[in-house]
Amino acid sequence: MSASEHRPTPETAGTTGQGTVTDRLVRANAAYASAFTDPGMDARPVLKVAVVACMDARLDLHAALGLTLGDCHTIRNAGGVVTDDIIRSLTISQRALGTRSVVLIHHTDCGMLSLTEDFRHEIEAEVGQRPAWAVEAFKDLDQDVRQSMQRVRTSPFLPYTDDVRGFVFDVTTGRLREIDPRH
Ligand SMILES: [Zn+2]
Repeated sequence: MSASEHRPTPETAGTTGQGTVTDRLVRANAAYASAFTDPGMDARPVLKVAVVACMDARLDLHAALGLTLGDCHTIRNAGGVVTDDIIRSLTISQRALGTRSVVLIHHTDCGMLSLTEDFRHEIEAEVGQRPAWAVEAFKDLDQDVRQSMQRVRTSPFLPYTDDVRGFVFDVTTGRLREIDPRH
């Protein structure tokens, strides 16, 4: 696939019958805020856990993991891969906001399974500049979860790496499958 196939056109970008999609979100927020009461919470996650997951729209982390407001940090990106910026967030999560456990979640049917580093070269051909970032695409979900666990465990910046577990979420069953870090 080429990058240009995914570029939204001005006619379709984020518009709905009643303004843009962002307008819709702002209206929803007004309703949310009207019923909102200050929960009086501290910023430190109650369960002292940080969840690193793919940004996939089918993955409702709070519902899938029985989490409620204030319980955890959720750190998401394309693939749920452990990039330098994920390490940055985990470092702040542990050192400044008291989390102790890390849960990594990839999922079935992830878009990253169908991309390759060619994605960067296609962008370069189109815009004349190659992105500095790696695509971090992967072919094997289980292996990428293992690699992500390894990146967390070996980070020199993270003081708490004893409780690091990795999973694959099945988007058709809602079930988590734990990945053994050893093979
Ligand atoms: Zn994904």
